[in-house]
Amino acid sequence: MKCKKCGKKAVASLRAYRISLCSECFIEFYTRLVKRSIRKYGILKNNDIILLAVSGGKDSAAMASVLRDLGYDFEMLYIDLGIGDYSRDSREKAERLSEILGVKLNTVSLSEYGVEIAKLKGKICSACGTAKRYIMNRFARENGFTVVATGHTAEDLVSFYLKNIAGGQRDYAEKLLPRIEPFDEKLVARAKPLFEVSEKENMIYAIVKKLPFKAEECPFAPRPEWKEIVYDIELRKPGFVKNFLRGLIQEKREMDFRHCSICGEVSLGEICSFCRLRMKFQDNL
Ligand code: AMP
Ligand code: ZN
Repeated sequence: MKCKKCGKKAVASLRAYRISLCSECFIEFYTRLVKRSIRKYGILKNNDIILLAVSGGKDSAAMASVLRDLGYDFEMLYIDLGIGDYSRDSREKAERLSEILGVKLNTVSLSEYGVEIAKLKGKICSACGTAKRYIMNRFARENGFTVVATGHTAEDLVSFYLKNIAGGQRDYAEKLLPRIEPFDEKLVARAKPLFEVSEKENMIYAIVKKLPFKAEECPFAPRPEWKEIVYDIELRKPGFVKNFLRGLIQEKREMDFRHCSICGEVSLGEICSFCRLRMKFQDNL
C-alpha cells in the first residue's frame, strides 16, 4: 500500500476519506483537519487563555501535541482520581508528555476534596465524570484560564447521542457542541478541538509522533457498548461517523434562534431568511 500523496509506504488507511497515507503525509493531513475544524466552528479563539485537560490517554496526548504544533499557547491539567495503578501510570504519562512538549502540567488530586472514587458504590463513572467536570472548571477559573479543552472524539459524541436517544433522553444537545460558552460568571468555556477526529486517527497520530500514552481503560469503566456499535456501523459504512456528526451539528446550529440583525424578527441565523430574500432583490436591482 502506497501513500496517495507522495508514493512512500503508507502507514494509515483512512477508509472514511478513502485515502492511504505515509507517516509524514498523515501528520500533515491530521494537523490540517484539526486546524480547519477549530477555525470553522470557532472552537478556540485568539484571546482564549487555554487549559488542556489531559488524562494520560492517546486522545488528549494527540490534542496537546497538535495544538502545540499549530502554535497555541496553553497549560495542561491532570486530575488524579486516586484509582490505584491506573491513576499512577496515567499521571506518569501526562508528566512525560509535559516534558516532551515543554508545556506546564498542573495536577489536582481528588483526595484533596476528600473523595475516594474506589470506595464509592454504584455509579462510579458518573460520579467520576461529575468530579472531573467540577475540578476542571474550578481550577481553570481560579487560575485565570478562559477555556478548558478536552480530547473528546467524533465517536464519543456520536455514541453519546445514540445512547441518549435510545434511552429516551433528549438532554444531549449541549454536549454535542464543539464549543460551549459559559452562561454564568463561575463557568469557563468548554472546547472539543478533536470533535471531528476519530480515535483511530488519534491513535495513529500518537504512535507516529511517539507520544507517551496509557492504552488500558480505567478498571471501573463498563464495556463501551455504544461505542462498539458505532465502530460496527463505521466498519460496514465507512464515513458514517463523520457524516452523522456533521448532520447533528447542523441540526443543533439551526436550532440556535436569535433576532435578525436587520429587521429584529426571530431568526435561525444572523440574518433572517426573509431579509436574505429581500437582499437578493436589492442585489439584482
Ligand atoms: P473520557 O471521559 O475518559 O473519555 O475523557 C474525555 C476527555 O476528558 C479526555 O480526552 C481528557 O481531555 C479529559 N480527561 C479525562 N480524564 C481526565 C483526567 N483524569 N484528568 C484530566 N483530564 C481528563
Ligand atoms: Zn506520503
